[in-house]
Formats: sequence, C-alpha cells, structure tokens
Amino acid sequence: MEDYDVLILGSGAGGYSAAIYASRYNMSAAVIGKEPGGVASEASEVENYPGFKKITGLELMEKFRGHVQSLGSKVFIYSDIVSVKKHGNKFIARLEDGKEFSGKALIVALGSKRRKLEIPGEKEFAGRGVSYCATCDAAFFKDRTVAIIGGNDSAAKAALVLADIAKKVYIIYRKDKIRAEPVLADRIDSKGNIEYVYNAVPLRIQGVKVVKSVVIKQNGKERKIPLDGIFIEIGSTPEDTLTAMLKLEKDVNGYIKVGQDMSTSIPGVFAAGDVTTGSNMFRQLVTAVAEGAIAAESAYRYLSGKTSL
Ligand code: NDP
Repeated sequence: MEDYDVLILGSGAGGYSAAIYASRYNMSAAVIGKEPGGVASEASEVENYPGFKKITGLELMEKFRGHVQSLGSKVFIYSDIVSVKKHGNKFIARLEDGKEFSGKALIVALGSKRRKLEIPGEKEFAGRGVSYCATCDAAFFKDRTVAIIGGNDSAAKAALVLADIAKKVYIIYRKDKIRAEPVLADRIDSKGNIEYVYNAVPLRIQGVKVVKSVVIKQNGKERKIPLDGIFIEIGSTPEDTLTAMLKLEKDVNGYIKVGQDMSTSIPGVFAAGDVTTGSNMFRQLVTAVAEGAIAAESAYRYLSGKTSL
C-alpha cells in the first residue's frame, strides 16, 4: 500500500490542478487516472485557456502533468480503479492489478463520459463510421460526407475539424439554431461545406458493415441522409461507478453535490471538475482547474484542522 496525504482520483484538469495546489501546501499527493488529461486531451484546439492563444488539448494537458510532477506529486495512469472505500480514517483505492493507495483526504475528479444517442445502429457501427471523437477519427473521412449530432460547443468544434478534411459536413440539431460560442458559429458560417439540418432528431443509423446513412425525423417527416460517418457530440454524463461506492450525495443528474469549498457529503472527501455540481452552469477547463485548486486547499484545511488559512 502506498500512503499519501491526499489521494486524487482522475487525471484531468481538475485532478492535475488539485495536485499542483496539494504540493504548494506541502501535502504528499498521488493522482490516479485512466486517461492522461481526461476529455480535455481530446480537444483539437483550445483557444480559451488563459496564457495560451492556441494549443492542442493533448499538449496543454501534458504541460499540466509535467507541472504536477515537477512539484513532486505522483501521477499513476492505470487501466482501472476497481474500488474505493473508507477504512478507519483513510480512503483506499484499489487498482485492477491489486495495488492499493491510501489518502487521509480524497479528491474525486473523475470527469465525465460521453452521452450516447441510444438509437438503433449506434452500437452496431461504433468504430465503423460512428465516432465520439472528431480529433481522433477525422482523418478517416477525407473527402467523405459526415454528420455531427448536437448543437453546442463540442458539436461546433467537431464540425470545424471535419470541414477541413471531409467533403461535406452536416450538423444535425434538434432545435432551430446552434447554441455554440458565437465565434465558433461565425467560423462555421465561413466554411463552404457545413450545412445545418435543424429541428431534426436522429432515429436510426443504417449501413452494411460500415455506416451508409442516418434516418432523421425533421419537422414531423422522416428523411434519409446518405453519409459515411457520424460524430456524436451530445454532451456527457458524470462518472458514477466509483462515486456510487462511496455513497456520495448527488443531484438528480448524477453530479456530486459540493459546497463552495468543494466539500461533499462525506467529511474528508472533496470533488472537482465535470463530476460536480460546482460548475453546472458552465463546464470549462478553467472552471475545473479552479475547483481542483479549491478542493486541494479545503483538503489542507481538513487535514490541518484549520478553519481558514
Ligand atoms: P452540451 O451538453 O453542452 O451540449 C450537448 C448538445 O447535444 C446540445 O446541443 C443538446 O441539445 C444536444 N443533445 C443532447 N442530448 C441529445 C440527444 N439525445 N439527441 C440529440 N441531441 C442531443 O455538451 P458539449 O459537449 O457541447 O459541451 C459541454 C460543456 O463543455 C459546455 O459547457 C461547453 O461550453 C463546453 N465546451 C466548450 C468548448 C469551447 O471551446 N469553449 C468546446 C467543447 C465544450 P440542446 O441544445 O437541445 O440541449
């Protein structure tokens, strides 16, 4: 068993930020995560993180990781954390290979997982035309026709990535106007090969071995759009398996309820980033980073018995 002051579950922006602040408060900390950088590392371009006019998500998150390690906190990337529980006054995480880590305080920064459309054909054609990551898979669709499902920033970003590679890009959205950042919407308008398909709900994905078309319901009528790829960008839901083991209190959508100090319903457990109710109004890299910093400071106060610094 490896023992630390603070155990941080999740190697995304919130977890890394918590680790940086933990080091600043002289607490030993370990970050245990599955994907280095979390969802942010899938972003083709990040243009709204202060200090970087334009940087890939992967590059930015590698800088975060380097910063964490330079200050002495440990980062462990594992295939799976199989359990997390409270034992006495410690929190213990057990990994797939049986290795255990303990922390006197715990910060849960497990992020979120992609929401699925749950329509016929989605599962069947996953990896054969259906994708959840434009940055990862766009190159497979050179000079092809693709559709993005969704109407906010992720959908807009995916459309822009694909517009430079594919011949034609549809944005299929259930409402009548995209609600992405205006800057992104302007860029979409300036591309000649992106077409909005509004008031449209995908019904089924069809194909033979690979995707050939999507059938949508638009203004009450069914319409079939022939295409080669579908990128599903309809948001995320919080990671819940491990948080369920801890029995943390959550809101109706499954986000961990936190106070202003990122404390949860269990003393000694703090949470940060996409997994919390903290930034329900606006989930961004900067908000995850801020929550990670607050969570680490609160963990310090919890461990030192101080009510204020
Ligand atoms: P969101 O949850 O914000 O948006 C999901 C989109 O998919 C919405 O337009 C929603 O429709 C639509 N949708 C949801 N469920 C379905 C469904 N079952 N069928 C069809 N459509 C569906 O997710 P995002 O990933 O876009 O964004 C998450 C957060 O991350 C946001 O805060 C966003 O601002 C941020 N972000 C910021 C970026 C940036 O560069 N600034 C880049 C990417 C994300 P409806 O509009 O009707 O709800």
